[in-house]
Amino acid sequence: MKYPLSRPDITRKEIDAVRRVLESGRLSLGPQLAEFEKQLANVAARKEAIATSSGTAALHLIMRALDIRAGDEVITSPLSFIASTNCIEYVGAKPVFVDVLEETACIDPAAIEQMITSRTKAILAVDAYGFPAEYRELRRIAREHELYLIEDSAEALGAAYEGKPCGSFGDASVYAFYANKPITTAEGGAVLVNDPGLARRVRSLLNQGRELTDDGWGERHEELGYNYRLSDVHSAIGREQLNRFETIRKRRRQIIRWYQEAITRLEVPVTVPSPYELDDPSIFSFVTRLPSPGLQEAVTRALARDGVQSRSYFYPIHLQPWYRKKYGYRDGMFPRAESWGASALALPLYSGLTKKDVGYIAGCLKLALADESIQARIR
Ligand SMILES: *Cc1c(COP(=O)(O)O)cnc(C)c1O
Repeated sequence: MKYPLSRPDITRKEIDAVRRVLESGRLSLGPQLAEFEKQLANVAARKEAIATSSGTAALHLIMRALDIRAGDEVITSPLSFIASTNCIEYVGAKPVFVDVLEETACIDPAAIEQMITSRTKAILAVDAYGFPAEYRELRRIAREHELYLIEDSAEALGAAYEGKPCGSFGDASVYAFYANKPITTAEGGAVLVNDPGLARRVRSLLNQGRELTDDGWGERHEELGYNYRLSDVHSAIGREQLNRFETIRKRRRQIIRWYQEAITRLEVPVTVPSPYELDDPSIFSFVTRLPSPGLQEAVTRALARDGVQSRSYFYPIHLQPWYRKKYGYRDGMFPRAESWGASALALPLYSGLTKKDVGYIAGCLKLALADESIQARIR
């Protein structure tokens, strides 16, 4: 495909950094990891960042570190990547879905309080598409009901809410660094916290539940842990990505602006979600909403013929076969999440795109939507 959905922004700097680590003989738990964590804490405005082997691992560690377990409930959004709900299942707790806001695709604070029971332990908010959730209201609810607030900012590095970075709002928050995320370490993630006790617990759990000693290799295992470590090789990539973060962020914002302009200029009949108008918008992906539900497949096929990759994103979690089967969820239960799921289409977003490329992609989208068979299905 000439225009893939995403392509990592890797330069000589990342390649040289990886080579240096490989030549150093110290591939794990070394100086790159410690420095990467410092840089991450800094961009997230946090006291501590703990790097992990994936975003999913980071979410699982938070569940364990907050002692969320069987019998507990966690209120969350069904419009997300499946990992944000799977982590609740990993510890035997029950995800309780509430619908999202039409404007932001994030959890609707007004729908939360009626779902709180004596078993509720936490609210897990997701910055869907990298759009910030309503943290002012979410924090108020969490405080009033003595619940933890967990923030899945896996897609939201580089976005801000009321002037503060996404990743800074939860009792614990998560970033992820898979190859399609705003910055990448190939695979990787991080837990972001301010509480030193919580940070220590996460650090121990990710290294087999070891007691924390200066060299990191204590012999006593205090509890059942995991190997969710991030290697120094991966950390070196992350450091270089963060060194270039302002450049990457500016470039991705510019491309999003070009998309907005091209869609307006060409009168492409799609809706651009309003969070792209924020001062520090999401740089994760560029999603538009098609004029009717159920057009995604046909549009994706038409765009592919023009060399443009696109995809519908997200498929609501309550409608995933595993969750349907376990909890008996049906279509229509969370209509706004389902409406996003049936109309959102992600378009290519990566540093290498030029203004001309973006104009071409927007033009292809307009043509695809003008097709008779699609026009007939627009209600
Ligand atoms: C990518 C992602 C994750 C998980 O990250 P991995 O590194 O792929 O495990 C979690 N939540 C959301 C919303 C994501 O987009």
